[in-house]
Amino acid sequence: MASARDQLLAWIDQDKDVLLDFFSKFVQAKSPNPPGDTLVAVAHITGFLDKEKLTHRVIAPNKIMPNIVASFDSGKPGKHLVLNGHIDVFPVADEERWKNGAWSGKVVDGKLYGRGSSDMKCGTTASIFTYRYLHRIKDQLKGKLTLTCVSDEETFGPWGARYLMEHHPEVHGDCCLNGEPSSPHTLRFGEKGLLWLEFSIATRGSHGAYPHASESASKIGAKLTADLEKLTDIPIKAPDNVMGALRAARTEIEIAQGVGSADIVPKVTVNIGVVEAGIKVNMTPSKARMEVDIRLPVGITADVVLAEVNKILARYPQVTMKQINNNPPSWCDPGHEMVEIIRANVRNLKGFEPKPVISLGGTDARLWRYINVPAYVYGPPPTGMGSYDEHVELDTFYHIVRTHVLSAYDYLTR
Ligand SMILES: [Zn+2]
Repeated sequence: MASARDQLLAWIDQDKDVLLDFFSKFVQAKSPNPPGDTLVAVAHITGFLDKEKLTHRVIAPNKIMPNIVASFDSGKPGKHLVLNGHIDVFPVADEERWKNGAWSGKVVDGKLYGRGSSDMKCGTTASIFTYRYLHRIKDQLKGKLTLTCVSDEETFGPWGARYLMEHHPEVHGDCCLNGEPSSPHTLRFGEKGLLWLEFSIATRGSHGAYPHASESASKIGAKLTADLEKLTDIPIKAPDNVMGALRAARTEIEIAQGVGSADIVPKVTVNIGVVEAGIKVNMTPSKARMEVDIRLPVGITADVVLAEVNKILARYPQVTMKQINNNPPSWCDPGHEMVEIIRANVRNLKGFEPKPVISLGGTDARLWRYINVPAYVYGPPPTGMGSYDEHVELDTFYHIVRTHVLSAYDYLTR
C-alpha cells in the first residue's frame, strides 16, 4: 500500500492540468490593488471550493475585498496549522511592455505569465490545493488545518489579514505557512520593518536672482537628504541565532534578492521616495516636501531611528516631520520544526536545502509573528514582481505545491 506521502505526490502528478488551469484562470481574474476590487478572483476560489464540497466562510468587512476562511478539525488532538495567501496583486503600470499580456495567464516556454503569478497567486494556489488534498486524508492527521485567502495585502490595508487577525482569533493557529515569493533557495523566517516619514520644509522664498533674500527649501531638502543617509550607519544588535542564520545564507540571499542584498538585510536603509519643491526656475522655493521610506532590520525599533532623526532635525528649524506608517521588523525561530520539515522536503524533492533568511520586503506573515505565532514563507522567485513580464516556471509552481502539501502533512502528523 502506498504511503500517504506517496499518495499526495501521486495526486499532484495526476492533477497537473487541474492545477495549471486553476492557476492560469486565477491570474486572468484581475485583482489589482489599488484599487483593490478582488471580487472576480474571490469568485474563482469560492467556485473551486464549492465544486470540491469544501465548506468555507467569506468574511468581507469591505464589500469589494472579501477574505475566504476554511477550516477542518481532524478529530484528534494536535497542532493547528494556518495556510495564508493573498488574492490582490500589484497594479500594472505599462501594459504594452508585457510580451505575453499583463493578465493572460498564458504559458510560454514552460513559464506562466501575468501580474500576480509570482506575487502571489502561485503561493495562494499552493495553499488552496494543500487544503484540498489534506482534507481528503483528514482521518490520518492530528490537529487542525485552516486556510485563509485574503485581500488588501499589497497596500498594507486594514481589510485583509489584519482584519482577520484582530476579529477572528480562530485563524491565529500554532504556526503559519505562506507562499509569498522567496525563491526555492530561501525560506523566510522574518522580514524587515518599515518607517515612513514625511518632511515639510518652509522658507520665506524669493526671486531666484536674490538668493540672499531667502533660504531655499529645495537646498535644505538636499542637505537633509544627505544627513538622513547617515541613519544607515546606526549599529544594529540582532539576536545571535538571527545573525548566524544570515551569515550562513549570504549566497542564497543574493540568489533570491539580488547581488548586494546580503549586506543590507541587517542594516537600516533610506529611500527618498518622493521629492517636491518649487514652482518656477527663477524663484527660490519657499516650500518642499519629501516622503522617506526607512527600512528597519531585526534588532532595531522605530524609536531608536526617530531619536536619531530628531537629533538631525534639531539643526533644521525650517523642517517639520510627520510619521506616515510604521511596521516593526518581525522574526521567529529559524530552528523551528517547520523549518526542518520544509528543508527536508526540498532536499528530497530537489537535492538542495533552502536556507532560513530575513526578507527585505514585507508580507502578511508578519502579523502572525507579531502575536508570537511562528510564520514561514516559501514560494517562487520574485521574477518581474512589481515590474513587467512577471512569471513563474511551471516546474517551480509544481515544486511549491508539493513542498507545501508535504510540509503541512508532516506538521500535522508529528
Ligand atoms: Zn505578496
